[in-house]
Amino acid sequence: EAKAAGGDGSMVYDSRTTGQAAGRLDLQSDLRVALERDELFLEYQPIIELDTERAVGLEALLRWQHGEHGLIMPDTFISIAEETGLIVPIGTWVLNKALAQVQRWRSTVPGAGNLSAAVNISARQLVAPDFPEIVHAAARAAGIDPAAVNLEITETVLMEQPELPLEILHRLHDLGVGLSIDDFGTGYSSLSYLKWMSARTLKIDRTFVEVLGSDPNGASIIELILGMARTLDLVVIAEGVETHDQLAELRRLGVRHAQGYLWSKPMPAGRVPDWLQSGTVPTEEPANGKPQTT
Ligand code: C2E
Ligand code: MG
Ligand code: MG
Ligand code: MG
Repeated sequence: EAKAAGGDGSMVYDSRTTGQAAGRLDLQSDLRVALERDELFLEYQPIIELDTERAVGLEALLRWQHGEHGLIMPDTFISIAEETGLIVPIGTWVLNKALAQVQRWRSTVPGAGNLSAAVNISARQLVAPDFPEIVHAAARAAGIDPAAVNLEITETVLMEQPELPLEILHRLHDLGVGLSIDDFGTGYSSLSYLKWMSARTLKIDRTFVEVLGSDPNGASIIELILGMARTLDLVVIAEGVETHDQLAELRRLGVRHAQGYLWSKPMPAGRVPDWLQSGTVPTEEPANGKPQTT
């Protein structure tokens, strides 16, 4: 069966559960037309500043509403988009859409003027020689300050890309956009590599947050990451925070920014303005760490 229960109980198509190459081929040809059929959309998850318990950023997360299979999550189709090269036009669409939507909230929602926009980027996009120009054009079209833009790239993907063109990094840096290392702790980035990259942000992978309280290694890895970040003056964001116990432990360790179902699961764009205005303090723990339905 090609369907599995989604986090919210809905049915979500997952090609991995089929293990069928045919299913992948199918998705591959469907993905080629997904953009023109307007089947792709973004959800947004707030990034919370723990001192103030306010949202300071929004991460755009891509979804695919497939005509036949229903909702398909990025873990199922991003790899297909990367293999086929479709990630380049799709990624450009994501950048333009996300920057325009976030800028709209910055300029219309009271108190949201300083929100940053976090956009996930694949290596294939980052190494394209015109990538800095694509980012520049998207920021200009949206009217957003490039300094409010963070490009997230996963650590393991970065490590597979040793010939990352320094010139592209320099041009992005000159534009003023920030680089975030996503799923940090799962790869082997060294202090010197992070310095060379001039990253702005490290996002602690959810697996280290998940084990807080049960596996003492979780806390020590987070302490190591915080030490690196302090040396290089980087912002640290803990991903996947689901419980008050995890939050308390993260605060104790000195983490100052976080993201997770405890505040909000990724939400459709239409819900963002109300969410931003209604405050962000988590009142109740989501049952079984599952997203709250509102
Ligand atoms: P990511 O960038 O590390 O995003 C975090 C993932 O964790 C998201 O899954 C998010 O919905 C989920 N998450 C957030 N808070 C919690 C929590 O408290 N508990 C749990 N269990 N999960 C949480 P999602 O949306 O399925 O995205 C998966 C990955 O797909 C992303 O990981 C990112 O690497 C990739 N992705 C998403 N959108 C894009 C895109 O536009 N372009 C590219 N290249 N990759 C994307
Ligand atoms: Mg991310
Ligand atoms: Mg991540
Ligand atoms: Mg991830």
